[in-house]
Amino acid sequence: MHTALLQDNFGRAIRDLRISITDRCNFRCFYCMPTEAMEWQPKTEILSYEEILKLSEIFVALGITKLRVTGGEPMLRRDLESLIARLAQIEGIEDLAMTTNAHFLGGRAQALKDAGLQRVTISLDSLQPDRFALMTGRNELPQVLAGIDAAIAAGLDPVKVNSVMMRGINDDQAVDFATFAREKSVRVRFIEFMPLDNGKVWRREMVVPGEELRQRIHAVYPLTPVKSENLSETARRFAFADGAPGEIGFINPVSQPFCGHCSRIRLTADGMIRTCLFSTVEHNIKRLLRAGATRDELMDFIIATVEKKEDRHHINDPEFVQPLRTMSCIGG
Ligand code: SAM
Repeated sequence: MHTALLQDNFGRAIRDLRISITDRCNFRCFYCMPTEAMEWQPKTEILSYEEILKLSEIFVALGITKLRVTGGEPMLRRDLESLIARLAQIEGIEDLAMTTNAHFLGGRAQALKDAGLQRVTISLDSLQPDRFALMTGRNELPQVLAGIDAAIAAGLDPVKVNSVMMRGINDDQAVDFATFAREKSVRVRFIEFMPLDNGKVWRREMVVPGEELRQRIHAVYPLTPVKSENLSETARRFAFADGAPGEIGFINPVSQPFCGHCSRIRLTADGMIRTCLFSTVEHNIKRLLRAGATRDELMDFIIATVEKKEDRHHINDPEFVQPLRTMSCIGG
C-alpha cells in the first residue's frame, strides 16, 4: 500500500499522472492543434519508452496510483502494446488508462487489453460524418465508431466517450450523444471548450455550460445523479432515470472549476512536467534524466515541482493568459 508522498502546497495529494507519449496526431481538430503549420518535435526530443518507464516507476514510488497514456495520438507511437505491458507491471499502479481518438483501436483494442490496459477514453465530437470531418479535418467517423465497438468488445471498462461541445458547431447533438450512450452502454462526457488553443478560436460565447446541456438532455431522458466516491473526479455523473444503460457526465472546467480537488500532474512527450493544464511554466525533467541524475535527485525534483502546483486556473479572471502550448502538445 502506498502512502501519498506527493503533496502540493495546498494540501492536495497528487495521485494521477498523465503521460503524453507523442505530440503527433493523425487528426487535425481545429480547436486543438497550434495555429501555425504543424511542426513536430524532433524524435530525439521525445522521451523514449525506457525514459518514460523509468520516470513512471519513480512517480509511482512517490504515490501516483493512476496513469493515463495520452498525446497527440498515443496510438501513433510504435509498439504501444509493449509500453502498456511494461507500465502495467509497475507495482503500485491501480489504474492504467488511455485517451485516444480510437481511429486505430479497431484492430488493436484486444491486444491493448491483453497487455494490461484497463480502460479507455475516446474523443468524439460529432456523430454526423460531415460535422465530424469539419471538426477533425478527417472524414473517418466509421473508423472511430468501429474503434468504440472494439473497445467494448475487448472488455476495456469503462469505455468513456468525451465530447467537446461548442456553441453553434456541435452542441445541437447533445441529445444524440445521450441516445448513443444508452444504445452502446458507454459513459458519454461533455467537456466545456477550454482556452487551450493558443488564442486561435476560443471565445467565451462558444462555451456551452454543462448545466445547460444537462437540462436539454434531462428534458428528453430524465437523469438522476450518480454519487462518486472519488473526490478528484472531474465529471458530474448522471444515470438515466428509466434504468437504461450508459451514463452521462459533465466536465465543467470553465463554468464550475474543480481545481480544489485536483490530483493531476502531466508529463509532456518532450519530458516537461506540467503542474496544471493552464501552467505558463514547465519543469524540465528530461534534462536532468539525460544528464544522468540519480533516482533520489529525480525524486527531489518531482517533489519540489509538485510543491509549485498552482492553486487554481485563472480562466475566469481578467488577467488570464493562455498557455503557449495547445492541448495536442500538452497531452489531454
Ligand atoms: N488524440 C487523443 C484524443 O483524441 O483523445 C488524445 C489527445 S487529445 C489532445 C485529448 C482531448 O483533449 C481530446 O478529447 C480533445 O477533444 C481535448 N481537447 C483538446 N483541446 C481542447 C480544448 N481547447 N478544450 C477542451 N478539450 C480539448
